[in-house]
Amino acid sequence: MHTKNLVSGIQPSGKLHIGNYLGALENFTKLEAGGDYRCFFMVVDLHSLTEPYDPALKGSQVLDTLASFVAAGLDPKKSVIFVQSHVPAHCELAWILNTVAPFGELSRMTQFKDKSARQEETNIGLFTYPVLMAADIVLYDAEAVPVGDDQLQHLEFTRALARKFNHRFGETFKEPEPLLTPTPRVMSLTDPMRKMSKSEPAGCLFLDDEPDEIMAKVMAAVTDSGTGVSYDRDNKPGIANLLGIFSSVSGTSIEDLVKEYGNAKYSVFKKAVAKAVAKKFAGYRKKKAKLVANSEKLVKIAARGAKTANAVANAKLAEIRKKIGLL
Ligand code: ADP
Repeated sequence: MHTKNLVSGIQPSGKLHIGNYLGALENFTKLEAGGDYRCFFMVVDLHSLTEPYDPALKGSQVLDTLASFVAAGLDPKKSVIFVQSHVPAHCELAWILNTVAPFGELSRMTQFKDKSARQEETNIGLFTYPVLMAADIVLYDAEAVPVGDDQLQHLEFTRALARKFNHRFGETFKEPEPLLTPTPRVMSLTDPMRKMSKSEPAGCLFLDDEPDEIMAKVMAAVTDSGTGVSYDRDNKPGIANLLGIFSSVSGTSIEDLVKEYGNAKYSVFKKAVAKAVAKKFAGYRKKKAKLVANSEKLVKIAARGAKTANAVANAKLAEIRKKIGLL
């Protein structure tokens, strides 16, 4: 019997990239296999509505993300795999938490500042995104949340909100801890000073990319014009990013890679990176293609997950309603 709960989610807003994988998804599979936690993994479709999208594509993006979860190795028999909007308690709790969340703190969230600067008309959902995220987590009494480092500020917000709620209404929520990987921030291939993100597809290496696409993208990745492969985040951010990716997908330490490629031309080094990435995801691509072709199976997985998630979430929501005095 697991004693601790763990929650995380990924937005269905496009194909998953290697940042999503190395920062989060691969860790999901390791944590599931580790057996220390009862794991809840969700496709956070409601979060993805805060950025421009095509309604005709949203359903297939949800299925695609579910397929990615399973293709990466998550087991629906071991983890609760579900779709956020299939569990209405998330929205109800988000509203309740909205009435506790300080406006000033939300205004300081860097994701909101970054994303709203890129939207013509900023929607309120983008502003209250961290409140819904807090609801996603505390609803399951999660003690751990595996995420990339772009989510650390939101997680700190969740912890503060849980404390505030507990202080006002009595002990109700756990304060979740982030679980980071050795590559918590994979950078864009086209701009190594920015994080790789689905909302900027040009800089992404997608897990579904074929080997020739991977080769073309890695060869074109922005690096400095110098020579010598060394790990220097400040002066060689492009090479450092590729070293981080190479090390994670190959299992060879950065130190050993630098020993091996230190004097190699960038083109030789990049070719080796592309080959290692293509090899790492060959099995994933095959499995994913099969799953996408069998959407009925994915729908079943989501339905089964929603049943369990609703049971857990509704029990917690009943406790919360009582605490805040609702009839
Ligand atoms: P995106 O920003 O690409 O839309 P999501 O918001 O769906 O990704 O994030 C899903 C998970 O992937 C989160 O845990 C997030 O922290 C992680 N993640 C996203 N981008 C990166 C990145 N470039 N490097 C490491 N982890 C990342």
